[in-house]
Amino acid sequence: MLQLEQVRIDNGGFELDADFGIEPGEKIAVIGPSGAGKSTLIGAIAGFYPVIRGRMLWQGQDITTAIPGERPVAMLFQDGNLFPHLSVAENVGLGLRPDLRLSASEKEQVRDALGRVGLQGMEERRPAALSGGQQSRAALARVLVQDRPLLLLDEPFAALGPALRREMLDLVRTLADETGKTLLMVSHDPDDARRIADRIILVTEGRADAPVATDVLLANPPEALRRYLG
Ligand code: ADP
Repeated sequence: MLQLEQVRIDNGGFELDADFGIEPGEKIAVIGPSGAGKSTLIGAIAGFYPVIRGRMLWQGQDITTAIPGERPVAMLFQDGNLFPHLSVAENVGLGLRPDLRLSASEKEQVRDALGRVGLQGMEERRPAALSGGQQSRAALARVLVQDRPLLLLDEPFAALGPALRREMLDLVRTLADETGKTLLMVSHDPDDARRIADRIILVTEGRADAPVATDVLLANPPEALRRYLG
């Protein structure tokens, strides 16, 4: 379980409060207006922003001040961050070893992850020789090989068209279910939340609310969410 106990996060003077728990294997969407603090919340769980009050726990262990590499977290960013001069397999291998000195079994893990995201046979290509959707799949394979229980996605597929985005969300949901991962995904689109999330965290004006069941929240949105949805 991920627990944020009366947490206050500081992002360069902007402060965000959060107090809630997330069960292992849950899929959570983080939605709210631009600038409300969604990335701040995700970034603090990843260890990029300091918690100045309260505690953060994973499976009962205090990770409030743990450095990013010691957290149970893999993070997928919006642009995927693929290196253009490296092959697809090397880009994925970076998730295992930054120096890319992979053992035979680690190379097998890379092949396995590429198979899971549907990129078998494309190991030696450069990212430029992949479509946008395939690049997203490669970036997803890189977070999969990291084998961390908590997967954080910050508007991961915003650059893709609607059909491809839905396809990627379905893939993420399937992979998360297969591997039992806990998922937190920032999105500005309630349809993304409907597609993938059990519960939604609404972030508004310096506060991340406790997660509420997706259908319940969207069927009867609070005032702040109604304003945002328009
Ligand atoms: P969201 O993801 O919901 O769009 P962010 O978490 O990115 O919101 O930003 C929350 C607030 O923090 C914003 O009001 C923004 O102005 C502020 N902020 C973001 N980054 C910094 C920074 N590096 N220094 C100071 N303030 C920042």
